[in-house]
Amino acid sequence: MKSGKLQRLKCSVKNYDWGRPGRDSQVARLFALNSGSQFEPEKPYAELWMGTHDSGPSYLVSSGENGVLVGSETVTLKSWLSKNPNVLGEKVLEKWGCDLPFLLKVLSVAKALSIQAHPDKELARTLHKLQPDVYKDGNHKPEMALAITEFEALCGFISLEELKAVIHAVPEIVELVGTEGANLVLRINDKDGEETVKPVLRAVFTQLMSASKDKVTEVIDRLKNRLHTESRVRQLTSKEQLVLLLEKQYPADVGVISAFFLNHVKLNPGEALYLGANEPHAYISGECVECMATSDNVVRAGLTPKYRDVQTLCSMLTYKQGSPEILRGVRLNPYVTRYLPPFDEFEVDCCILPRGETVVFPAIPGPSIFLVTAGEGTMNPGSPKGQVVTEGDVLFAAANTEISVTSASELHLYRTGVNSKFFQAQ
Ligand SMILES: [Zn+2]
Repeated sequence: MKSGKLQRLKCSVKNYDWGRPGRDSQVARLFALNSGSQFEPEKPYAELWMGTHDSGPSYLVSSGENGVLVGSETVTLKSWLSKNPNVLGEKVLEKWGCDLPFLLKVLSVAKALSIQAHPDKELARTLHKLQPDVYKDGNHKPEMALAITEFEALCGFISLEELKAVIHAVPEIVELVGTEGANLVLRINDKDGEETVKPVLRAVFTQLMSASKDKVTEVIDRLKNRLHTESRVRQLTSKEQLVLLLEKQYPADVGVISAFFLNHVKLNPGEALYLGANEPHAYISGECVECMATSDNVVRAGLTPKYRDVQTLCSMLTYKQGSPEILRGVRLNPYVTRYLPPFDEFEVDCCILPRGETVVFPAIPGPSIFLVTAGEGTMNPGSPKGQVVTEGDVLFAAANTEISVTSASELHLYRTGVNSKFFQAQ
């Protein structure tokens, strides 16, 4: 395998049960185009992974006879990088070693993902050491979701004011956290600082998440009946409607009721949400491009049939309150918008190139992954002849490579690379 400046990749897919059925899933469509295979219309397709993580590696594709692309399942991007470390660029090699620091995904969400948080580096190392079968690597996992369609999520704790309102309005929460817990919240003065509020929120949320299965089943049943009755005489709030939807997806799951504690965020296409370490969240519906540090560490505590680690989750959270920041991106030129989360490992560019136009991605000191989600065009890494790219193509670009892209039809592509602020700070 020669070390070209642009390498085509064949990527891995995940069929988690929350994914959208093949006929209705971007992930399925992109995966089928990427791998030259068919998708199953009824099977869930949840995530397409583009990167080097061992749980879902990408493989190099070489040109076969007559230009037909063949996958070489033996050469992973990771093993190729280990033989061609120069393509990562010096600064990336120095900081992260011989691997991609970021992992790019597309998500197609039909039903809610688990309520989860991702550990910081220190906790990740500890968890991986103690339970390597559950926590697969020792890395942290900051992440960012950039909406392709309307995208809904639960993210971070609601404000103190909202929390007090919820305690008044939802008697079932008081049943789970106890009158004493509820009163602790209600008695907090609005002028009290974080150091007063956080321990109370932690105690109350931990109490809620640790309630017995029987109690939770009983209380959620009561909540459901009450909301159905009240819906005949009043309009339910959007949070109440969400709670009923989650109950249908995950009956008798404590995650249903914990949704009352979290911000319900609705992203429009082109808006992004980022999550630092130890922030609770759950994606609910829609399709997005997701970027993260190369890690698969997830601590789950609700809305899941998978393993739950309630104690770890409740003790790791920051208990920061208030609405999360929504990124709308920075225009780099008429066709490219950049999303810069506050993490060194990654940034994402979204490019929409009208038919017949050309745009240049300047040379940068780190590697990039490109994903084409619609249209057709040519990518030219400075060599005499460019590569034709179409929907479903994924390409790795070496550091210090200028790439010009020309579209044959309106072309939609995403690029992810190391955060440009990381290079500026060097
Ligand atoms: Zn997550």
